Amino acid sequence: MLWNDLETELARRESLNLRRVLRTVPDGVVDLASNDYLGLATHTEVRAAAAEAAEKFGGSARASRLVSGNYSLIAELEDALAAFKHTESALVFSSGYAANLGVIAALGDSQTALFCHKRNHASLVDACRLASVSGAKLRFYVTSAKLVSLLETSDAERKIAVADGVFSMDGDLLDLPETLEIIRKYDAYLILDDAHGTGTLGASGRGIGEHFGLHDERIIWVGTLSKALGSQGGFVAGKRVLIDFLMNAARPFVYSTGLNPAAAGAALKALELIQREPQRLEKCRENSRILGAKLRSLGFEALNQPSPILPVIVGESDKALQLSKQLELRGFWCPAIRFPTVPRGKARLRLTASAVWESELLGRIEAAFDEVRRSIGSHSV
Ligand SMILES: *Cc1c(COP(=O)(O)O)cnc(C)c1O
Repeated sequence: MLWNDLETELARRESLNLRRVLRTVPDGVVDLASNDYLGLATHTEVRAAAAEAAEKFGGSARASRLVSGNYSLIAELEDALAAFKHTESALVFSSGYAANLGVIAALGDSQTALFCHKRNHASLVDACRLASVSGAKLRFYVTSAKLVSLLETSDAERKIAVADGVFSMDGDLLDLPETLEIIRKYDAYLILDDAHGTGTLGASGRGIGEHFGLHDERIIWVGTLSKALGSQGGFVAGKRVLIDFLMNAARPFVYSTGLNPAAAGAALKALELIQREPQRLEKCRENSRILGAKLRSLGFEALNQPSPILPVIVGESDKALQLSKQLELRGFWCPAIRFPTVPRGKARLRLTASAVWESELLGRIEAAFDEVRRSIGSHSV
């Protein structure tokens, strides 16, 4: 029976230390793993804006946007997102995942070749696979040299590279200057998913484009409302004609209920706060730098990245699980990230810096890692 097969598969995963279970962060335990980089999800004004939107527009958009689920607050949010990203227009989806499926499957027709970076987020990979089912050519690359050779030999009418701005498990950035040069040279386009860069990179949090001082209408921006913006949902930003096309052709937009009003209210307020209080961004970066340096001085392989993502590479899954458990006993929540999310033998703790950490807390995190290092033996880190 199917159920027996599923039991067997789960047992197999369990025996490899790869079975996942859902847990909630216990009261009093400090969350070191959330993507709420600026602490906006629980900000008083963000919560109030969410409540107010729910009060005014209800618990649901009640229909697809094209039917009757459109309401003034979403349009306001889209205008604010377009202004924030310096694009003509923006379109909101119910998640970042849905935004990627929407834009990539809509653009990836049989005249299109998609060049997908191998370290891309699962939603980009899934979206490219979906497009390939309906005829798009799909190739994967890692190095820029490979991207160049794929573009050079492609005979597709439309060529689109697809990449993360910030690689979510390593925290490093796409080499945007180089990628953009290649894109221009080969008359291609770039779908750039800046889920982790939105609200964290650049002087005013506009993302990887601002970080490198680059903008180009060949870039199709994707972002999420669910990370630094402390809400839920996703968006695509770019040329007006692109957005008008997606409204017609992006199936997760057309066939899904409009963004929840509370999420729209929260995201709009978060965008306002990021612009009103830019010191949050700097604080987040500073905390990431400080904690990374502390962990490295304890002997941990904490990667030094320009994003708030602070991966601590541990190696084997069981060791990462053990470390995570030991940290939890000391009041810190930091789940082990394992295969298949990261390569085998590269299990890690993926810490994420927050703007709301004070130096006293940084000291306590350091002390906990120091103790844990001893408890599992220093040879293992
Ligand atoms: C988190 C993430 C997403 C998914 O966004 P959601 O809004 O959580 O669905 C997409 N792309 C990247 C790179 C991400 O890190």
